[in-house]
Amino acid sequence: KKYVYLFHEGDASMKNLLGGKGANLAEMTNLGIPIPKGFTVTTEACNKYYDDDKVIAPEIINEIHHTMSQLEAATGKTFGGEVNPLLVSVRSGARASMPGMMDTILNLGLNDKTVEVLAKETNNERFAYDSYRRFIMMFGDVVMEIHKKDFDAILEEMKEAKGVHLDTELTAEDLKELVLQFKAFYRSQKGTDFPQDAREQLIEAVTAVFRSWDNPRANVYRRLNDIPSSWGTAVNVQEMVFGNKGDTSGSGVAFSRNPATGEKKIFAEYLMNAQGEDVVAGIRTPSPIEELEKQMPETYKQFMDIVNTLENHYRDMQDMEFTIEEGKLYFLQTRNGKRTAQAALKIAVDMVEEGLTTKEKAILMLDPKQLDTLLHPAFNQEEMKNHPVIATGLPASPGAATGKIAFTAQEAKERHEAGEMVVLVRQETSPEDIEGMIAAEGILTVRGGMTSHAAVVARGMGACCVAGAGAIKVDEKKKTMTVNGKVYGTEDYISLDGSTGNVYEGKIETVEPEISGHFGTFMGWADEIRSLKVRTNADTPHDAAQAVKFGAEGIGLTRTEHMFFAEDRIFIMRQMIVARTEEARRAALEKLLPMQKSDFKGIYKAMEGRAVTIRFLDPPLHEFLPTHPEEIEELAAALNVTTDELNGVITDLHEFNPMMGHRGCRLAVSYPEIAEMQTRAVIEAALEVNAEMGWNIVPEIMIPLVGEVKELKYVKNIVVKTADAIIAEQGAELKYLVGTMIEIPRACMTADEIATEADFFSFGTNDLTQMSFGFSRDDAGTFLKHYYEKKIYDFDPFAKLDQDGVGKFVKTAVTLGRGEKPTLKLGVCGEHGGDPSSVEFFHNIGLDYVSCSPFRVPVARLAAAQAEV
Ligand code: PEP
Ligand code: MG
Repeated sequence: KKYVYLFHEGDASMKNLLGGKGANLAEMTNLGIPIPKGFTVTTEACNKYYDDDKVIAPEIINEIHHTMSQLEAATGKTFGGEVNPLLVSVRSGARASMPGMMDTILNLGLNDKTVEVLAKETNNERFAYDSYRRFIMMFGDVVMEIHKKDFDAILEEMKEAKGVHLDTELTAEDLKELVLQFKAFYRSQKGTDFPQDAREQLIEAVTAVFRSWDNPRANVYRRLNDIPSSWGTAVNVQEMVFGNKGDTSGSGVAFSRNPATGEKKIFAEYLMNAQGEDVVAGIRTPSPIEELEKQMPETYKQFMDIVNTLENHYRDMQDMEFTIEEGKLYFLQTRNGKRTAQAALKIAVDMVEEGLTTKEKAILMLDPKQLDTLLHPAFNQEEMKNHPVIATGLPASPGAATGKIAFTAQEAKERHEAGEMVVLVRQETSPEDIEGMIAAEGILTVRGGMTSHAAVVARGMGACCVAGAGAIKVDEKKKTMTVNGKVYGTEDYISLDGSTGNVYEGKIETVEPEISGHFGTFMGWADEIRSLKVRTNADTPHDAAQAVKFGAEGIGLTRTEHMFFAEDRIFIMRQMIVARTEEARRAALEKLLPMQKSDFKGIYKAMEGRAVTIRFLDPPLHEFLPTHPEEIEELAAALNVTTDELNGVITDLHEFNPMMGHRGCRLAVSYPEIAEMQTRAVIEAALEVNAEMGWNIVPEIMIPLVGEVKELKYVKNIVVKTADAIIAEQGAELKYLVGTMIEIPRACMTADEIATEADFFSFGTNDLTQMSFGFSRDDAGTFLKHYYEKKIYDFDPFAKLDQDGVGKFVKTAVTLGRGEKPTLKLGVCGEHGGDPSSVEFFHNIGLDYVSCSPFRVPVARLAAAQAEV
């Protein structure tokens, strides 16, 4: 088996094996783009490293060494040798790009001898030692896990001692001294000398990249982005070119279109006399590419041509890294660029209009989860005028964020978990900050450009970010930030507008979003392409109306219990629950009837005649009962019983395992009058709205938690008897359906029998997941995190359907149900109905619709379209 590929041996189709970066380097080599030569160690080698208990197999080490010899021959340089030394970069490159998550080592191959050769050959001692000190630092940090900030402190001390501000002001002699200090520090930390053998350095570095696949921040990023740990990462070893060779050298990053707005204009930044890490780290603020035209017109032209070539070749917006070495331009990598949702929509629509791509391909250019950012509120423009702009940075990632200030990622995470809304304010962010960035409403940095870590990561996760607001001074220790002489602390609110880069004082209200413009066009294409219908889960007219705006084609689940929680109703509800006679229960139900009926009328109207599925009461009754002594007294008084008697009833209703207790259709089996009342409310509301509006609503009544056909049959009889009597009484016409939720494993296995009594099935994958795994929905979070750490599960099965297990139950029920009744309508209304990969599964097994919360309706529409192509 081959574990190592020279760039010219691969191509873009080999992404799974070579990783995204490796496959693109291969493709660029084939396209004749000037890129430094190199090779890729495959993702299979990484997986084997983990299978072999974290050692690289000898045959792979040999293959790496052998390929290195081929690279030496191809470049005419020697690796670790004393003539024309070959230096390389070692970078990770997984199948999906994980910006800032994995580690990179530059200048590998330098040692005490080669550094001198390099100095002589380039006639540039300063450059050689600058490269060496960077290498010692990165190798120490990434491979040997010595803290980077300790090296930084030594560097800062040196700058202070020499009275300079910038790294570039240090002389060759200073850097030589710095190298000695770094090496001494390395020895003090590791107890061994900094390795001088280039081949040993290389294998250590490859090992470190493999190891970094499993570091905590990579794991967090993967879970956030649905990337399984089984993919592994490839390692790219590439000849170094130098952007830090003096004033005709530089490094930069480029996007073929603007990644924040989508504007069709090349967007690039660069720094002269710097290596790529300097640009991304945001240490110095880079220059816009337009300045290169003045500095180096030829190189600029070549740069623009290559960017256009790459975009036309990949037919998608590209994110590239480049280096100019003494006037000669090299591209170091290209990939489909991360972009904001706004930019993604504009680029997709523009590219179809430009004839660069098709609608089918264009709808794949957006991750459905990204739509989320477009559906969340923006600042109320009127209110914004009353808040002073205290600083302006770069509009790095759009959105509106308001919160109190948090100064560290850890603090942001803790305060978020405690229920606070916080904005994370940092000098600059680093990959360690990822969890705090997720927890924060928005991110504000003082330093860094549009391509700084904060900007790239925030765009990737759709979080609002303002970067490089240089007017702000942050004091992390004192937990303050100062702008224009005014000091803000952890109790002060600020608001960020990620679309303008403005930072406002105070808390600004937000307004609801709309689907229009490019968003509307794009979603229109998704609707043309998809066949799976998308409904919504909504319990109020407000949510229903919101969902219609977002394109919902009906309601797949109304949880009626949510209607009983309202302040004025719960009291009556409680009277119903603790009633000890049917008569008392009916009296309470009688009072609830008009309330339910008006709820249903509101929902029918909001849905404007679209399908509405109403599910009968589901949760265990004790959930409604009072717990405070005053409430208990009040209820006892209303019922004319003593508090002791009432407490007795409450104790009797207590359950040890309420999730598997007296809930769902079991309630209707015990107390059929509840189902009668709910049927009356559904049917009367529909008759009234049909008469009033001239519509033809066909209500869908759904019975929860059925595990046995006789259970369904029993409850259905009550529904049918009640409904038919009302319809007949009124001399009206009304069609209605009675169906069931399928959310108990037994129901899946007996779905053929259940189908005989059901007009439709709706899979309740929340309960089905709970009961298939035997994981309590309410408690699983506490132990599942250990399962992620130990790689037993990659994902939360309550968020992303477990296709192998729970999915098999669903598939079985589909086959059995349709086998018995080919016209059976099938949907899903568990949380998974709004999860893109689960939606794809539901499409593939032939469901008619998915139903999800209003804000996920557009996500599901797009996911359904993507499942089709
Ligand atoms: C389900 O179980 O998937 C479902 C939709 O019902 P609930 O979440 O209300 O139990
Ligand atoms: Mg359920």
